[in-house]
Amino acid sequence: MKDKLFYCLQCKKDVNEVNVDGYDFGDRWLEGVTYRVKNVDGRPKLLGIVDADKVINPKDDAYLNKLNNDYWNKMCLEHCEDLDIASCPTCDSGILVWGASPPYKIP
Ligand SMILES: [Zn+2]
Repeated sequence: MKDKLFYCLQCKKDVNEVNVDGYDFGDRWLEGVTYRVKNVDGRPKLLGIVDADKVINPKDDAYLNKLNNDYWNKMCLEHCEDLDIASCPTCDSGILVWGASPPYKIP
């Protein structure tokens, strides 16, 4: 995640936290499961799983409670080291992931 910058075209601003679709690294096991990840000094920090009400780490989700979360959390962080697709935690739009430092050109 080093040097990755996130820009939401909908909110028109840089964002430091993104939502990552579990399907991208967990295939059908994590279809519909959303992870919130923060960029902390170029390292991905997992904040948790986000439910439909945008609550981080919901306590009573029967499906999520059955998962091997230690394993999937690790897979999520590995995936985020080379992240190229994510979505905005505010508006759910796809965000742009930039591999370079600013100044960058917004299309
Ligand atoms: Zn947004």
